Amino acid sequence: DGKDVKFKRVMLKISGEALMGDGQFGLNPPTVERIAREVKSVHDLGVEICMVIGGGNIFRGLQGSAQGMERTTADYMGMLATVMNALAMQSALETLGVFTRVISAIPMDQVCEPYIRRRAVRHLEKKRVCIFAAGTGNPYFTTDTASALRANEMSCEAIFMGKQVDGIYDSDPKKNPDAKRFDRISYDEVFRQNLKVMDASAIALARDNNMPLIVFSLDEPGGFRGILAGEGTYTTVH
Ligand code: UDP
Repeated sequence: DGKDVKFKRVMLKISGEALMGDGQFGLNPPTVERIAREVKSVHDLGVEICMVIGGGNIFRGLQGSAQGMERTTADYMGMLATVMNALAMQSALETLGVFTRVISAIPMDQVCEPYIRRRAVRHLEKKRVCIFAAGTGNPYFTTDTASALRANEMSCEAIFMGKQVDGIYDSDPKKNPDAKRFDRISYDEVFRQNLKVMDASAIALARDNNMPLIVFSLDEPGGFRGILAGEGTYTTVH
């Protein structure tokens, strides 16, 4: 098992909304557990796993500032939301017997570890899933950028972006039955066509460091593991 796996270390980025299930807000425990099982199945292959989880299911900085809150304060609230999601994922993974560390860009020692690059690398070598929380630690950024940043720092081979569709399409496949999925597309083309994959700063960071991005469906049971074994449909951005 694991002999044919093409990746040794990967970053998995999921949005906070992925944890809502059918709800409109917050965390749906069965959904968190389901995703934790997908992560475990890849961990079982011996792949070293980094994770970044968004916060939009709890709080969005832009939404807060649109309602009159100071932008930076609202962004810090968004970052704190990602810490809650990370703790929920930690709990679900550890229930399944997968050892994890939550590593925050903003130190909060009683809750999780502070980010220290060499220490995080060591955790990965020891096969602990590293869940990077609090985004980049800076307002005006997103967890997409955090995933690109940490993926580079941790020398991941690719960023796996778990979505509700199995890749990047030329139009919304949920609205247009004729939408076409790209097998491969360049970062520059994603920019040119203004495809909604990651925000622009995240795309630039990944592109400038030759970090491939694999967009796949997290709704497909076994999909994450399948791609690591060379199966399934997805879009590679390179
Ligand atoms: N955020 C931030 N800096 C970061 C990462 C996140 O300020 O480095 C804030 C930002 O306000 C954002 C919120 O945290 O709206 C939630 O993150 P994100 O929007 O990336 O989560 P998603 O929408 O993917 O669930």
